[in-house]
Amino acid sequence: MSAATPVLTGLMQHDVPLTIGSLLRRMRTVNATSEVVGYGATGSTRATFLEVAERADRLGGALRALGVAEGDRVATLAWNAQEHLEAYVAIPSLGAVLHTVNLRMTPDQMTYVINHGAARILIVHRSLLPLLEAVADGLETLEHLVLVGPGPEPGDALARFTQHDYEEALAAATPIAAWPDVDDRAGAALCYTSGTTGNPKGVLYSHRSSVLHAMAAGMADTLAVTSGDRVLPIVPMFHANAWGLPYAAALVGASLVFVGHDMSPATISGAIAAERVTIAAGVPTIWMDLLRYAQEHDVDVSSLRFAPCGGAAVPRALFEGFEQTLGAEIVHAWGMTETSPLGAVARVPDDVTGEERWSLKLSQGRIAPMVEARLIDDDGAEVPWDGESSGELQVRGPWIASGYYLDEQASADAIDDGWLRTGDIATIDERGYLRLTDRAKDIIKSGGEWISSVELEGELLAHPAVAEAAVVAAPHERWTERPLACVVLAPGAEVTPAELRTFLAGRVAKWWVPEFFTFIDEVPKTSVGKFDKKVLRARLADGDLDVAVCEEAIATA
Ligand code: ADP
Repeated sequence: MSAATPVLTGLMQHDVPLTIGSLLRRMRTVNATSEVVGYGATGSTRATFLEVAERADRLGGALRALGVAEGDRVATLAWNAQEHLEAYVAIPSLGAVLHTVNLRMTPDQMTYVINHGAARILIVHRSLLPLLEAVADGLETLEHLVLVGPGPEPGDALARFTQHDYEEALAAATPIAAWPDVDDRAGAALCYTSGTTGNPKGVLYSHRSSVLHAMAAGMADTLAVTSGDRVLPIVPMFHANAWGLPYAAALVGASLVFVGHDMSPATISGAIAAERVTIAAGVPTIWMDLLRYAQEHDVDVSSLRFAPCGGAAVPRALFEGFEQTLGAEIVHAWGMTETSPLGAVARVPDDVTGEERWSLKLSQGRIAPMVEARLIDDDGAEVPWDGESSGELQVRGPWIASGYYLDEQASADAIDDGWLRTGDIATIDERGYLRLTDRAKDIIKSGGEWISSVELEGELLAHPAVAEAAVVAAPHERWTERPLACVVLAPGAEVTPAELRTFLAGRVAKWWVPEFFTFIDEVPKTSVGKFDKKVLRARLADGDLDVAVCEEAIATA
């Protein structure tokens, strides 16, 4: 006699949706006493997670009263602050999508991303109104501004938008008593990343991917965020969700410390010392500045367990300086906006010491759990994980983008049979440690944000004295990379770097304007006539380029 087949369905685990709403519930229950600190040298603000959750209930009520429905995007233009955290949890919990606008984008890019995201409502810190005023005329979908914090009131350029004060809106709101059930595969947050050419591209994070990413950030082999931690995300909340740290903190109950717009080493070290910060995360530029500052000032970062650092390669001198001068450890990590961003973290097993330890610390990290990686060579073939063969890094996984928001062309270009093409050239060793060796994407990363070489070249060419221009990344101690303009002069023409800087300053963001110039006879080309920037980079590395450094303030035209 054969036994009846047992029915197993229904005996398994509860299929709970993995939503930002579940993080909000954690904030008002298990993690109620964790706190959010807005650090200021002259006075700090403080709130418990319970207070934040209750204010999020009010923000949700206020947004609903303004007509926010499921799937709508609600934008933010803000620094790292308690109100931004409230938006982080309230907007997705309504079933709407939090669209964090990167305030470092150029006015054209900002106009594009606000229109493309198509939010009707923007939560904006008053100190950032000048940025908004500069793009106001081009905004097509925006109707309401919710104004946060101290600062000037909106000028005439913003008069056509209905204006609300954040605190007044919260005070007047009916708090949400029962948040809606939200599908965990729906969009929760939207973040744009600028590409080599063309418009910025939107990465839409689902609830499920954000919660899984928050869980991953709590793993000991990655960012190891725990309930006992006090986390200072220096990476901005408009950049890849501050590397997912706010959601990780909400999930595990780590307290959060914010420094707002002030990322000076004095403020950062002051916040770490006063608030006994245990994890502080930022790009190498931030830590280089702090290290330099610590050489001349008394700095106490003894509370730090470690400092995750990524977005650009961390030089050995920075790791060593941190350990020797500050007694603190930097942990190297690799990721992209498209990867939420946790992709790889360079944790070194305790029994690995000496040069081998350095070798692993300097790598971009071990491929994170749940992330799959492969390396593809120029012929489309997969190369082995032997620590030597290199290829383009491709990744996939539950928090890795499978395309760009409403952008078929960019999605088709970026996705290879379900794998995300990262544009990074890398090797991977037998244990899964990743090492970036080059970059296929033609772009410059300065202080953690992108500068488009193609756009700079176009603007340089607009100058009558310039016949050809190629812009490549020059290594830079403070900013990691700065643009080097390689200029071919038009026959008989003359122009100085200072004149080109003045010319560019009117056409691109000030921080994009190169300090480094070299005048060359021609731009090296590949067999198909494309600029061969590898050759220029090699000549720069070999000291074969005559580079003029021009750092004086830009004269106004
Ligand atoms: P983020 O700055 O948060 O890493 P972006 O999407 O702005 O995210 O940039 C991602 C790119 O930055 C990567 O594709 C890679 O080129 C570069 N990058 C990120 N982390 C590192 C790292 N640890 N070392 C070198 N380059 C890195």
